[in-house]
Amino acid sequence: MQNPGIDTQPFYLRLHWQIAAAMVAGILLGSLVGDPAVTAVGWMGTIFVRLLRMVIVPLIFTSIVSGVAAVGSGSSLGRLGLRTFFYYIVTSFAAILTGLVLVNLIGPGRGADLGPASMATVPEIETPSNLAEIFVRMIPTNPVRALAEGDMLAVIFFALVVGVALTRLPTTRFDRLRFLFEDLFELMMKITGGIIRLAPLGVLGLITRSVATSGVQSFGPLGVYALTIVAGLGIHVLVTLPLLLTTVGRMNPLVHYRNMSEALLMAFSTSSSSATLPVTLRCAEERVGVSNRTASFVLPMGATVNMDGTALYECVGVIFISQVLGFGLDFSAQLTVVITALLASIGAAGIPSAGLVMIFVVTESVGLKGPEVGLIVGAMLAIDRPLDMLRTVTNVLSDSCGAAIIAVHEGEAGINES
Ligand code: ASP
Repeated sequence: MQNPGIDTQPFYLRLHWQIAAAMVAGILLGSLVGDPAVTAVGWMGTIFVRLLRMVIVPLIFTSIVSGVAAVGSGSSLGRLGLRTFFYYIVTSFAAILTGLVLVNLIGPGRGADLGPASMATVPEIETPSNLAEIFVRMIPTNPVRALAEGDMLAVIFFALVVGVALTRLPTTRFDRLRFLFEDLFELMMKITGGIIRLAPLGVLGLITRSVATSGVQSFGPLGVYALTIVAGLGIHVLVTLPLLLTTVGRMNPLVHYRNMSEALLMAFSTSSSSATLPVTLRCAEERVGVSNRTASFVLPMGATVNMDGTALYECVGVIFISQVLGFGLDFSAQLTVVITALLASIGAAGIPSAGLVMIFVVTESVGLKGPEVGLIVGAMLAIDRPLDMLRTVTNVLSDSCGAAIIAVHEGEAGINES
């Protein structure tokens, strides 16, 4: 479904320009005015994120159930599922390998002295004690609790089970329930549309707060580490994904990026793939032209499972820690990092700083333990916000490229290439 009116509006009425203007205003307010500005506009960001989070669980649930039901049972579901997982895995590995090469070449942690930067405390997000647990915990013992607590992997699992079972019901029941889930999904998207109109105000609040509170922190030795990650994300966003779009998707990357610009700006402002999901879905369907069937299968799962930016970050982060500690990682240890970075990115929730906290899973896997590791992660936290913003953009972009590429291969007409 295209929105023909959208590009004929004057530029200042277009949402992505309004969001961009709000970002600039937020940077100015946060850096020049500081705390009083946070008091004045910070609440708008908080309310905006709460509104987005309000729709996430019902949106993910109804969109996956109706997505699976629309794909139908048997071979077409299998084919779409395989394509989706293949895409997730290939792009996440490509991102990790980019990070691995860069961190070994640049060596940001060799001889680094992190000094007082390591005093920050790491936020408390529960990390699974081992990687197998990520998969075990995907199965909710109580789906209502999983929904209530917003436990995304468990919600996705239950939604997939419901969707698949639905396709096996007799036709009358199948149709009735399928239409019900589709209608509920449309209802959530309608609410989302209203929330998104508030985006410029929300972004103003969010950016003002993050600029005023994190400021330009004690970069020093962490600067090279941050630049390594930025370079890796840059290669992934500007080279790897465009190459995939051009060769596998036969699409113009510039057009795709422009079509997704609202979602990318939102990812940058909220640092949360989950909070951005409503916008990602809307851009992919209304501007890129991906069908609801494909978008509602690929994107909600992608927001939790497919995190290329986070995967790259886990790999660079852990090797950085090992370099700071002077702890050499041989080939097999680096291979362990690659695999656990992938699993950690799958297990990480689509919320701010989730990637930083999951780093402990990867450090443990190669035997990096003890209080020094916590101190270095504390230092990394000091400059995590801007990195989190960029890896969230990468995560959301990769999901959207996946939806577009898979849509093309599913033979969908209506992909917007102009
Ligand atoms: N904030 C990221 C996201 O929501 C996850 C991370 O911390 O890497 O995609």
